[in-house]
Amino acid sequence: MKTRDRLRIAMQKSGRLTEPALDLLNRCGLSFRQSRDKLFCFGEGEPVDLLLVRDDDIPGLIAQGVCDLGIVGRNVLREFQLVGGRDEPPLHEWRPLGFGRCRLSIAVPQEIDYQSPQTLSGQRIATSYPGLLGEWLRTQQVDAGVMTLAGSVEIAPKLGTADAICDLVQSGGTLVANQLRETEVLLESEAVLAGPQTLPADERGDMIELLLKRLDGVIQVRESRLLLLQTSRHSLEAVTRLLPGGPQPTLLPVAGQPDQLMLQALCAGEVSWRQLEEIKLAGAREMFVLPVEKMLA
Ligand code: ATP
Ligand code: ZN
Repeated sequence: MKTRDRLRIAMQKSGRLTEPALDLLNRCGLSFRQSRDKLFCFGEGEPVDLLLVRDDDIPGLIAQGVCDLGIVGRNVLREFQLVGGRDEPPLHEWRPLGFGRCRLSIAVPQEIDYQSPQTLSGQRIATSYPGLLGEWLRTQQVDAGVMTLAGSVEIAPKLGTADAICDLVQSGGTLVANQLRETEVLLESEAVLAGPQTLPADERGDMIELLLKRLDGVIQVRESRLLLLQTSRHSLEAVTRLLPGGPQPTLLPVAGQPDQLMLQALCAGEVSWRQLEEIKLAGAREMFVLPVEKMLA
């Protein structure tokens, strides 16, 4: 294949992952000119273009070298590795991205007395994930029928075409609406950055490494809060012990108040009112919690 000098990232054209994936790439400093047919988006600034496709096609496009990276659900990536991509070079999950969270679960009609995976013995299970379901059934040593459906898996038990389902669940609302009960979780999923196990040894590889570093910053920053406060030297130890996530704080002197210190700490995750109130009781005052915009370690 002719080598490209621009990086190409595949992502979902229209669906749950589209908006958050674009938002994440924008935060990494990538912007795109929307082309009319919307299959291909030309990148402005950095040499990175987008291919907008069905999520199911993304692992195959990476395996074939049509794209260098893809943003896709772990469920789709793993299924491809089990079913579609056995003869292709292995793909790697480079980063979990923290959105598109869901789980691949077994659910049975509410009236079924589910005891253990063995309850599924001899039953027909409808799924769009025959690879992942088959692998789980083997590790559980359960002999069940796997019925592969492209969609509308959740209505199969009501139609009488299956006894149980194995499908993606987020809130569980769809299951309840179909009188189904979740009994086993096979896979915890979220959107991931997928790519080949070995990065290309050219400018594209360098661009991927740069992108990974920016991604790490963006992901870390998304959850981080900068906590600023004043404390007396006397209360410092008690205050430090209460900092959410146990970060290493930076201390600065306060002009004209030798007993006082300004404390600055990067907390991984939300800082709640309750946590702030406890820190205050320990002796802190003048407290600020700030979102972090960019971070480069
Ligand atoms: P297409 O094949 O047209 O790209 P799709 O219908 O297969 O779209 P979506 O329903 O948009 O895809 O889901 C994309 C991904 O979002 C899933 O593969 C999964 O990783 C994640 N996801 C998160 N929550 C859910 C959910 N409740 N149901 C289905 N997928 C979910
Ligand atoms: Zn799909």
